[in-house]
Amino acid sequence: MKERSWVEINLDNFRFNIRELKRFLLPHQGFLQIVKADAYGHGAYEIAKAALAEGAGYLGVANPEEGKLLRVQGITAPILILSPALKEEIPEIIKYKLVPTISDLTFAKALSKQSSEAGVVTPVHVKIDTGMHRSGFRSEDFLSSLKKLGRMPNLEIEGVFSHFAASETDEVFSLKQLKEFERILAQMDNKPKYIHLANSAALMHNNSWQTNLVRLGIMSYGVYTNREQQDKLALRSVMTFKSVLAQVKDIKKGEYVGYNLTWKAARDGRYGIIPIGYADGYDFLLSNQGSVIINKQVCRIIGKISMDMITVDLTSIDRAKTGDEVVLMGGGTNLLRAEQLAAKYDGSAYELLCQIGRRAKRYYFDKGRLVSQAPLSRREFVSTDYSDSKLGTIISSAINQRLQDEELADLINKEVLRGFFYNKDKDIQYRKDFVHTIQFIEDKDIKDYYVTKTRLQFRKVLQNDYFIVACANSDKLLKKYFLRKDVEYRWLMDTNFALHTEQFVVTKVMVKNYNLETTHNVKDSCLEIRCQHPSLSDLKGIEVDFIIETLTYYPKTSHQLSIYVTELTKGVSVKFEFPDVLKSVEVSSIFSGKDKYPIIKKTGNSLTISTNKQEWVFPNSGIIFSY
Ligand SMILES: *Cc1c(COP(=O)(O)O)cnc(C)c1O
Repeated sequence: MKERSWVEINLDNFRFNIRELKRFLLPHQGFLQIVKADAYGHGAYEIAKAALAEGAGYLGVANPEEGKLLRVQGITAPILILSPALKEEIPEIIKYKLVPTISDLTFAKALSKQSSEAGVVTPVHVKIDTGMHRSGFRSEDFLSSLKKLGRMPNLEIEGVFSHFAASETDEVFSLKQLKEFERILAQMDNKPKYIHLANSAALMHNNSWQTNLVRLGIMSYGVYTNREQQDKLALRSVMTFKSVLAQVKDIKKGEYVGYNLTWKAARDGRYGIIPIGYADGYDFLLSNQGSVIINKQVCRIIGKISMDMITVDLTSIDRAKTGDEVVLMGGGTNLLRAEQLAAKYDGSAYELLCQIGRRAKRYYFDKGRLVSQAPLSRREFVSTDYSDSKLGTIISSAINQRLQDEELADLINKEVLRGFFYNKDKDIQYRKDFVHTIQFIEDKDIKDYYVTKTRLQFRKVLQNDYFIVACANSDKLLKKYFLRKDVEYRWLMDTNFALHTEQFVVTKVMVKNYNLETTHNVKDSCLEIRCQHPSLSDLKGIEVDFIIETLTYYPKTSHQLSIYVTELTKGVSVKFEFPDVLKSVEVSSIFSGKDKYPIIKKTGNSLTISTNKQEWVFPNSGIIFSY
């Protein structure tokens, strides 16, 4: 990693935590993975995928936007929106098949109305306020509200839930909430599919038998919310925040470090500068409080946390030098657990996880191997941040957005772009200055055939230290050579010929100024001519001129000659030269590209069809000469 700071996400540890937590699920319970706030800063998409693979039946997000982001990336699992949604967000909820939480009737009415207009029934979870007094229906209003909701035709009450106010600190109050929840449930005539109450901390103490779903959040990310949990289960930090030592400096006894002169050197020493600050989410309140780890040694933060820098004491640290890796949070040491760091300033581990690495990219490790990487969503779009498959998703959604037409966007993605991005290797090959000449010559000794000379010339980046010229006497046999990337020329031989090395001869083949050696070889009823030269290996990756000349025979009775443009080509010219007897040669072309109607030039004995040199011609273009 060469960045100023980065975040490593250990998916093995995440899975480990989920398995630890699952031990506390009751036999009939499943779990909902909370991935709100970009999965507490861990990256909602990757965490959602890992959680679903571990058996999560549901995902929880804070708002429709977060749900939409998961949908766009291909997550199809049910997604619950935990916070109250706004009326303005209803179209998105419907479009992306998200499940909103219902906490008031006005919103519910609007949702039912718009669902009806869209011809859908929207599943909802209804929230009961059992004592937290944040969102949800007050418990005394709940049953009557539920009745009204039940009469709204386009809503399906799929779930009922409540939330603990102090699951990690107040077992007694939590138990009161649990009893209140169960009391209300007992009065419900029809139980919905999902009933849920516990967050991760409540799983250990206040997990109601009446519920069949548990909402796992912070503990799945490896953070304890109280001390007793450590005796019950092991949790491993999933997130590690890292940076590098940017500078190492000396300091003299009595000198100060940082803003407001809050740290004074008690003796001569050394200190280091790390290029992250509170703007990177490293909390300001860790000033003179936090520690980092460099080369497995603990270094104390000295002075105030700046916006973009922190300073650490290196006086008793040996071997620390510029460029050394610095662990700021996580990394498998208890000292740097999010809850330990947050405790130093009486802060919240939840908040710390959400804010850490604001400028950082995330790297995902699975079984010790780097499996993917992603920028924080805050970062401006930079295409190199994304993997090929993710970029594919982004391109297709961008095209969709630009066209506002799903069907057309699908067509462009599947038919036009797939050839470039999905089916082939990453580098798209294309040809330039493509000039193809086909010459029919009368030979009085050969009655039924024209002697045929072809010359193909183009420029292209050399891929291999050899290439193949292929010839077959059926479309079917020739087909496989259209799929191969090492074939530069294909010729369809008349079916009357038994394929023989004398009926199709490569007379000259050049790359740059090298004359290539050719070896003719009949293989599976196809003629393969391998063209190679020892110097080609030095030209790989370089754009070079190709010349391929052949000599063959073409049946007079065919009356038709087809030439195909099989690769993306910039500038095409195809010339057909024919003997005097063929006076009435016609040409038709199927060109895909901007210029569908190339220029046709006719002289007494030739026909040339060409595009402008700068014009792109797409694969599957072709020209048919009839005589
Ligand atoms: C965030 C959230 C949770 C997860 O809580 P943790 O303490 O992180 O396990 C559960 N339920 C609701 C409604 C939430 O908003």
